[in-house]
Amino acid sequence: MKGTIGVTTENIFPVIKKFLYSDHEIFLRELVSNAVDATQKLRTLSSFGEYNGELSDMNVTVSIDSGEGTLTVSDHGIGMTADDIEKYINQIAFSGAEEFLEKYKDSANAIIGHFGLGFYSAFMVARKVEIRSLSYKEGAQAVKWSCDGSPEFTMEPTEKSTRGTDIVLYIDDDNRQFLEASRIEGLLRKYCRFLPVPVIFGKEQEWKDGKMTDTDRDRIINITEPAWTKKPADLTDKDYLAFYRELYPGQDDPLFWIHLNVDYPFTLTGILFFPKIHNNLEVTRNRIQLYCNQVYVTDSVEGVVPEFMMLLQGVIDSPDIPLNVSRSYLQSDTAVKKISSYITKKVASRLDEIFRNDRPGFEQKWDDIKIFIEYGMLTDEKFCEAAMKFCLLRDTDGKYFTLEEYRTLIEPSQTDREGNVVYLYATDPTAQYNYIRSANDAGYSVIVMDGQLDPHFVGLLEQKIEKSRFVRVDSDVVTNLIPKADKAAVDLSDTRRNILTTMFDSQLPEVDNARFLVTFEAMGATAAPVVITQNEYMRRMKEMAAIQPGMNFYGQMPDSYSLAVNTDHPLIRKISEEAGASLDARIEPLEKQINDDNARITALRGDNATDKEKAEADELVKAVDNTRSEQTTIIAGYASECPVVRQLIDLALLGNGLLRGAELSRFISRSVELL
Ligand code: ADP
Repeated sequence: MKGTIGVTTENIFPVIKKFLYSDHEIFLRELVSNAVDATQKLRTLSSFGEYNGELSDMNVTVSIDSGEGTLTVSDHGIGMTADDIEKYINQIAFSGAEEFLEKYKDSANAIIGHFGLGFYSAFMVARKVEIRSLSYKEGAQAVKWSCDGSPEFTMEPTEKSTRGTDIVLYIDDDNRQFLEASRIEGLLRKYCRFLPVPVIFGKEQEWKDGKMTDTDRDRIINITEPAWTKKPADLTDKDYLAFYRELYPGQDDPLFWIHLNVDYPFTLTGILFFPKIHNNLEVTRNRIQLYCNQVYVTDSVEGVVPEFMMLLQGVIDSPDIPLNVSRSYLQSDTAVKKISSYITKKVASRLDEIFRNDRPGFEQKWDDIKIFIEYGMLTDEKFCEAAMKFCLLRDTDGKYFTLEEYRTLIEPSQTDREGNVVYLYATDPTAQYNYIRSANDAGYSVIVMDGQLDPHFVGLLEQKIEKSRFVRVDSDVVTNLIPKADKAAVDLSDTRRNILTTMFDSQLPEVDNARFLVTFEAMGATAAPVVITQNEYMRRMKEMAAIQPGMNFYGQMPDSYSLAVNTDHPLIRKISEEAGASLDARIEPLEKQINDDNARITALRGDNATDKEKAEADELVKAVDNTRSEQTTIIAGYASECPVVRQLIDLALLGNGLLRGAELSRFISRSVELL
């Protein structure tokens, strides 16, 4: 028999070849899944008593004949009669194809699968395709169908003793890679690794006479009952771990997993693993894999899985996800949206369950899973809501608290005069040790926020927790971290303040890319004499600038620090007294001079100032500058004779890791001298 394939578009094969060029390795997935389908159909018929023949060899075999240049996919499934081929291959295949092609011209991948083009994808790599088939039906005549890529085909009776179908591809010259065993093996491992019917490719090998040699045992390349297809109740932790190792060999064991199992309103199974993350690279390499009835489809699951779960690993299997459509279509698909929000809910409730049933275990894993949870909370409103219950904070003593527990803990002592609860945090407990200790001494608790996402997460918590403020523990002196109504005032005369400011200013060393502002705080006699702090707002801006383009303005600014001098500290009092004794008498008249001059300048620059008055004012401005620098010279000269000032500054810098290089070695020799 001869005929023309039932398609109204003149010739569909050039279309297939052209559109699907980039993806043509999927022909193997299509053919092997057809073979698996045919095998399972026969099993089903048999279980319904509609087929009573033997079911011994039900494997699918893929083989290469490099001499002939053919690749063959064979099954022992239901097979096809000439009528079946006419109906399923010749006619049905292209019903509606023309209209469809018109609509999806740009995303040809959509063609496959949707309109039964699976079989025809063989023509992406073959110049000729043959079907040799013997139907399971009693007394069926084996049939051979052949088509060379034009719409004409031939079909004739043939000899075939075994039930089932062989699909023979005469691989064309451009695609000879598909005659290489290693290439085919790679594809089978990728697409067919978990197919429900054993797939055979080649023979098992063993070490013999100094080289690997084929045995006579068939090599099965797939696992027919992967863990996700089983009931959670039938699986032990060991089974899950074994499955994980099969999926991602050579990785650390996962922290825990979630077995998904839904059948309404869509069908979805799968297992999601929370991996131990070491670096971001491996996350992108080992991603969640999407399957459709155990056939591998893709590991680009954007859209199906909520974005934050891209950090998870494992398998999702759903026949309800439109597999071969473009990504933008996928994201707007309502079924897919439902799936995505289902997964979110499920992950959240599983985490909640683990938290409630095994809090110590949850706390133990917290540092590892916190990145998922924070990412989820930052990017997914629904997840955030659910996670507020089990999201933990860790204090600097390593104790864990829920958000609610922590608020209850700190509210009495850490509420500022505006009624905000102030959360103190450290980003580097070792480097910020001194600040943490001062805060603890003041009766405050400090949490650790040292994760990659914590700079953002702090902002989120501030939004989510009513009347809360997050302040890094080194962003101000301890008395200012949580401003209270009863804050002690600094007791310094203007002159003394002026003298001390200049003394400390003049002794500050140059620190790369840093500016310091001298301030005075009454921190109590036992607190440190000098403390260096970095303003919370500026620091956050700079942190943002480092990760967000377009914020260069902040990025280029130097780090600005406060050098807070503790006016309650005995050493500072002593410095102040001694400086006053030697300098007050000289500085006071200069100050008076400056004040008088400034008053005169203001008067001279009145609305109706004459040119003469303006000139006089300009002269006085210069005079003030001169008096100021005279003042500075006197004070700086005095300060340079007073090594303890420099010593105190250096100690504070040292405490922040800001004292380096030559300044550090000078500090060391000065310390020795002072001793
Ligand atoms: P789909 O698999 O999406 O239906 P295909 O073009 O791959 O589309 O196959 C069309 C039909 O041809 C199948 O539905 C099936 O009835 C039949 N068929 C394909 N391959 C086989 C096979 N190996 N054994 C039996 N029937 C097959």
